[in-house]
Amino acid sequence: MVYVILGAPGSGKGTRAGVLKEKLGLVHISTGDLLKKDKEIYEKYGEEINSGKLLSDETMKEILKTRLMRDDVKKGCIIDGYPRTLKQAETLDEILSELGKKVEKALLVDASEELIYSRILNRIVCPKCGEIYNKQYADENNNKCGKCSAELVVRGDDNVDSIKRRLDIFNQNIPEIVKYYEEKGNLAVVDASKEPEEILKKV
Ligand code: AMP
Repeated sequence: MVYVILGAPGSGKGTRAGVLKEKLGLVHISTGDLLKKDKEIYEKYGEEINSGKLLSDETMKEILKTRLMRDDVKKGCIIDGYPRTLKQAETLDEILSELGKKVEKALLVDASEELIYSRILNRIVCPKCGEIYNKQYADENNNKCGKCSAELVVRGDDNVDSIKRRLDIFNQNIPEIVKYYEEKGNLAVVDASKEPEEILKKV
């Protein structure tokens, strides 16, 4: 079982992936987290990552393939942050087919720009476990993660310039990715503006 979560930065795809992970007992692979947690990669590509530019399809292919070949992915996984280009969608199918797997469903989390900006500018994350919070939660909880007690931080790329760039890139690429999964008959869409319970049910 391989699920792909598509969505603009700040649309809530990480949160939806977390829900699916709990429900289905699958590993959650966030390419953004993979890049930020690997010291060597972060040293090499930190500037691109923080300014919201995409890493090349080739680089991402190597990183994702290495991760997908690990033992904990045997049962399946939820991929969040990949594909971000049509080429990446095709590459993912190639990698999965080599591993005897395929994309079960691609879930698009659909959000308005207004919602995206307000969510991102209010977002604070745990650098250790990746849990996502809002700033009010951080204020009320001594700026500590509720899961692992680490000090919460604002992501390096959660600033207005980077959001704009990330959104432009997303808007440029998403139509053909959506078309790709639509034509395969495995696209599902969830409206990010609905109440959390309703979104959860749909997911
Ligand atoms: P994210 O946490 O998913 O927003 O990813 C943070 C940053 O990592 C992005 O702005 C890109 O610089 C890089 N990145 C993550 N996933 C990809 C990908 N699939 N293709 C290219 N760059 C990526």
